[in-house]
Amino acid sequence: MVNPKFLKKTKIIATLGPAISSEEIIKELILEGVNVFRVNFSHADYEDVAEKVKIIRKLSRELKYHISILGDLQGPKLRIGKVKEEGITLKTGDLLSFSNKKNNLSENEVFMTYKNFPKDVNEGETILIDDGKLSFRVTSTNNIDKVTATALVDGILFSKKGVNLPNTVVSLPALTKKDKEDVLYSIQLDLDWIALSFVRNAKDVLDLKKFILKHNQTAIPIIAKIEKPEALLCIDEIIANSDGIMVARGDLGVEIPMEEVPMVQKKLVKKAKMAKIPVIIATQMMESMIQNPVPTRAEVNDVANSVVDGADAVMLSGETSVGKHPIEVIKAMKRIILNIEDDPHILMPPHTPELKKDDRYITDMICLNAAQMVDSTKASAIITLSHSGYTAYQISSYRPLAHILVFTSNKKILNQLSLVWGVYTFLYEEKKSTDNTILDVNKMAKSKGFIKKNDYVINLNAMPVGEDGKTNTLRISLVD
Ligand code: PEP
Repeated sequence: MVNPKFLKKTKIIATLGPAISSEEIIKELILEGVNVFRVNFSHADYEDVAEKVKIIRKLSRELKYHISILGDLQGPKLRIGKVKEEGITLKTGDLLSFSNKKNNLSENEVFMTYKNFPKDVNEGETILIDDGKLSFRVTSTNNIDKVTATALVDGILFSKKGVNLPNTVVSLPALTKKDKEDVLYSIQLDLDWIALSFVRNAKDVLDLKKFILKHNQTAIPIIAKIEKPEALLCIDEIIANSDGIMVARGDLGVEIPMEEVPMVQKKLVKKAKMAKIPVIIATQMMESMIQNPVPTRAEVNDVANSVVDGADAVMLSGETSVGKHPIEVIKAMKRIILNIEDDPHILMPPHTPELKKDDRYITDMICLNAAQMVDSTKASAIITLSHSGYTAYQISSYRPLAHILVFTSNKKILNQLSLVWGVYTFLYEEKKSTDNTILDVNKMAKSKGFIKKNDYVINLNAMPVGEDGKTNTLRISLVD
């Protein structure tokens, strides 16, 4: 078990890759603070993924510490093909053509992996290549197989670079053939979360949900990656249909002006917290540590501000997948998080929660009051019995200054909830009276070091016991 002294509330996601090459490194990463590993299907090799997943599950059992695994689908990422001669120099005003045919390309013509591009694009729209390093304005399209555009900046064009079309309504499905294969593989590996890239609307998320349920008995929670301007236009609908969101700042900062990303991040975090779903802040958090053993001051500020904004989890990409210092990066991130997250400025979201008088009203009120009571009682933990994880999401969204310890017999949520701010989970399969259950879970929480003698804890239960009822009871106990 990880030393509870280091059990930070903001979770860390580390992307798997060649830099995380052995069981020893994975173990060290877990002990240093990784809560979730991310499989980036844009670069994943199935055999390697299977091996890493096996190791993570084994370590999780051995350490008695639940780790989530997130499968991140590539989505309809557009790319150009091979350029004729590597490194084409382009000057402002030069013309470049995009063809949907692979062969017989002329000078200054490149293949584009998006068949309907000539039909979907309009004159005047923007084409960005290589994370926006090169930008073009469309001057013409023949609506069949060729688009011509003028370079807006000087630059050098390399093969296979990613393409972003911020103003074009792309008619590709969010779930590509490759994504479907990757979802099936994720189901086979029993991954805990699936992230969908380039989500444009709620239908994209619902299509993935349907696809999962067609091939799996139970749903797998979906993270909608917000990285398209179209998604921002219907964000409420996307959030209402997703189990979590990711502020995918890499592509988002290309698709919208990058100076708009910081406020978009704050708005998205707030909306996710209101909807009580987790929100991940991703990309370039500790980018310089791919090479260097220490982060820049600006990176420290970025991680800290993401915690202040209210992120459930902060995500590392290249820093852990291909970086030189994967362990150091986790240590540095943990230090930043531990220094920031208990600051009174981020104790509670400043909004009044909307509590609907539906069949969850009693549970919602219990969770809100439990979270608020932490302030006055200085309770060191809110301990809840949960079957679906609902209470954990509710309580976490209020960011109480206490651990949220979830005891459950539902093995599915043991790993899933590792992504959620403040939540740690434990398997509990007993069916005892409320009095005895509280004695049991408090004893277990104490033995694992989360609480100690004379601490106050807040216990949430459903009464009567044994009917899988909804949480309706709050008790404050003094730990003996
Ligand atoms: C991003 O664009 O910020 C992101 C997380 O997506 P990916 O790493 O898959 O490009």
